[in-house]
Amino acid sequence: MWRLTDEQRELRDSIRSFAQEVVRPKMLDVDSSSPYPMDVHEALAEEGLLKLAIPAAYGGRDSTNVAYCSFIEELARVSGTASLMGAYVKLTSLPIILAGSEEQKQRFLPGLASGEHLGSYAITEPGVGSDPAALRMSAERRGDTWVLNGTKRFIGNAGLSQLYVVFARTGEDGAGGVSAFVVDGQSDGLSVEELPTMGMPGWRLGAPTFTDVEVPHANLLGEEGDGFKIAMGAFDTSRPTVASQAVGLGQGAIDLALDYARRRETFGEPLIEHQGVQFKLAGLEAKVAAARSLTYQAATCVDEQDPRTTKLAAAAKLFASDTAMEATTEAVQVLGGNGYLKEFPAERMMRDAKVLQIYEGANEIQMLVIARQMVEEAEARGVIWTEAVEAEGRTEPAGADQVGARA
Ligand SMILES: Cc1cc2nc3c(=O)[nH]c(=O)nc-3n(C[C@H](O)[C@H](O)[C@H](O)COP(=O)(O)OP(=O)(O)OC[C@H]3O[C@@H](n4cnc5c(N)ncnc54)[C@H](O)[C@@H]3O)c2cc1C
Repeated sequence: MWRLTDEQRELRDSIRSFAQEVVRPKMLDVDSSSPYPMDVHEALAEEGLLKLAIPAAYGGRDSTNVAYCSFIEELARVSGTASLMGAYVKLTSLPIILAGSEEQKQRFLPGLASGEHLGSYAITEPGVGSDPAALRMSAERRGDTWVLNGTKRFIGNAGLSQLYVVFARTGEDGAGGVSAFVVDGQSDGLSVEELPTMGMPGWRLGAPTFTDVEVPHANLLGEEGDGFKIAMGAFDTSRPTVASQAVGLGQGAIDLALDYARRRETFGEPLIEHQGVQFKLAGLEAKVAAARSLTYQAATCVDEQDPRTTKLAAAAKLFASDTAMEATTEAVQVLGGNGYLKEFPAERMMRDAKVLQIYEGANEIQMLVIARQMVEEAEARGVIWTEAVEAEGRTEPAGADQVGARA
């Protein structure tokens, strides 16, 4: 059972005020042609909020994943882009926290915690997204240096980052041949093509190409061949963050639609007095509340290193992002024609929500992850129903030939 502690609730409330009073006004006029809103990043850094992603021993402030998710939720409630600024500190620092040596943590994490450095997490390639074990980018060892060649795609903060966590092939085909490196953003041979996006205005997405980029062996995370395990471990921990972005966006859309429905009149009374509108908003409120519970349950699993983390983190990401898509789309509908105008944030929220169903593994892949863990859990507990029915002599075990024969 998750519940914010008094301290976490206090932190959440102060972040809520900060998001409303400082972040929202700064993000109001940011659109797809705007530069990266560095003033928002700086404000988050000055407030010490980016530190929440990183342990105190490395310049951060010790925080639970639950508290971190409430930070991201409150930012997303006012701006998807601002929530990404927080979320990316976590995604980039996680491989270093999970697999880095003490020396690497001291070298790389304080800059991310203070906000002085931006980071990128680069696993996706032009030909490889849902199946990262098939990635092709190469890293070849020459003495104490690794030489990286290849192109990554859809990489957040690309072109702005001081450090990239890059996953590259150092060995055999498949998951076991992948290694993880920290690459300096100023490296010779690193160039970035910018990719314009549907939503998250002001945020930077790019396709970095690595041409004979030299990386010191001291920047290899973990052992050679650990890369895939590191990448998946980072996703397990960070998927509740994506889910909390979704909860924030969904709640923000309900806040907006409710405000509007209380003021707008049709047929002589406020929209909110029409039962059809009440039902719509009430249904969404229930779904967002359910998404929030699942999200914080998954975040609690991360904090407690619960063996169900992989399944629940994927389930939270899946359910919360689908809910955010529904809530933001319905918010546009409640605002009617105004929902379609740039003057109101409903259409922006709808465009922002879409990517939550795609990144950190598209939702179809979350279902594969959930199903895989369900099968593992079933194997561990043994067959219950079928054995019981068979033991009672009601039926013979069905072999594959019998199943086929029946069909
Ligand atoms: C805005 C944005 C930001 C991103 N940020 C980053 C980042 O910072 N770093 C990074 O490394 N990557 C990032 N990504 C990449 C993202 O994680 C991938 O786009 C995502 O994993 C999907 O991969 P793909 O685009 O190659 O789609 P594909 O793998 O080509 O899949 C296409 C569609 O087919 C479905 N599909 C694929 N396989 C199956 C299957 N077996 N069964 C059923 N359906 C299937 C997918 O779910 C998807 O709907 C970002 C993407 C976007 C759009």
